Amino acid sequence: MGGSEAIISALQRGLEKHGGRLLLRSHVEQVAVEGGRAAGVVLRARGGGGDGRREVVRARKGVISNASVWDTARLLPEGSVPKEWRARSVATPQTGSFVHLHLGIDASGLPADLDCHHLFVDDWSDLDAPQNVRIASIPTVFDPSLAPPGKAVVHAYTAGNEPYSLWEGVRRGSPEYAALKEQRSQCLWKALERVIPDIRERAELTMVGTPLTHERFLRRNRGTYGPAISARGGTWPGNGTPLPGLSVCGDSCMPGIGVPAAAASGMMAANALAPVWSHLKTLDELRL
Ligand SMILES: Cc1cc2nc3c(=O)[nH]c(=O)nc-3n(C[C@H](O)[C@H](O)[C@H](O)COP(=O)(O)OP(=O)(O)OC[C@H]3O[C@@H](n4cnc5c(N)ncnc54)[C@H](O)[C@@H]3O)c2cc1C
Repeated sequence: MGGSEAIISALQRGLEKHGGRLLLRSHVEQVAVEGGRAAGVVLRARGGGGDGRREVVRARKGVISNASVWDTARLLPEGSVPKEWRARSVATPQTGSFVHLHLGIDASGLPADLDCHHLFVDDWSDLDAPQNVRIASIPTVFDPSLAPPGKAVVHAYTAGNEPYSLWEGVRRGSPEYAALKEQRSQCLWKALERVIPDIRERAELTMVGTPLTHERFLRRNRGTYGPAISARGGTWPGNGTPLPGLSVCGDSCMPGIGVPAAAASGMMAANALAPVWSHLKTLDELRL
């Protein structure tokens, strides 16, 4: 209920309740390193009317990065971590990206028993194949307040299987980009037609997201879903790094990808920063 914004608002309320502060539009350019320790973060100078000075947010206890493993590596100054560690981080195998179809549709006459969630698989023998697995949801089924009366919202996407290489070097806004969006979103329209046969006629608002959208707005290296670490072949990295004072969390860390997993890794990173006496005090409080 309330869309994905409700999850973010809950996290923000929790942060602020405990004295935290959320800074938006604050791009971290680099982790500041002083005396061989992560000492804070350097923010990119804000354009337009600012004095162009870079703001440094100083860390009292430590810096925790939840940017992806590839993006965190980019934030670390040359020489601050061993070359082998950086090379290993950057070489982490990567899943593909996404094509998204976001629609606002006319909902009149839609079946009353329409399901919210749909999974489409063309070939069960190759689940990683480009555009093979697609997912769709119609969240207004559960929460009609997400759209004006009589309308519905639909979101369909390829499940982390869109090759970034198809989009690499294509200029956003160019005719080539528009044509590629049209072409690569057809598999989503076709999937949705299995649920709502006349969906193309119903669409009043159509937005296509691409790996370049992901890369730009989510600021994830090559728009990736995350590390492609198989449970069979390896284990996910923990919260520590070779740079004292720097921890990592998020979906490049143990226990893996997904909101609950990323939240758990954040808790683990925070716990590791707190002294054992704080842990014991918290346990005592829980026992009361
Ligand atoms: C289409 C899609 C569907 C998904 N569905 C589900 C689902 O149903 N259930 C589920 O549990 N999970 C789902 N996931 C996965 C889940 O969204 C992620 O695993 C989770 O959001 C990862 O959280 P994170 O904090 O690790 O990383 P992110 O959410 O990527 O957060 C990292 C943040 O760091 C910011 N950032 C990066 N670089 C900088 C910088 N230099 N300076 C400042 N900020 C920076 C980014 O802007 C971003 O806000 C889905 C993901 C996708 C893409």
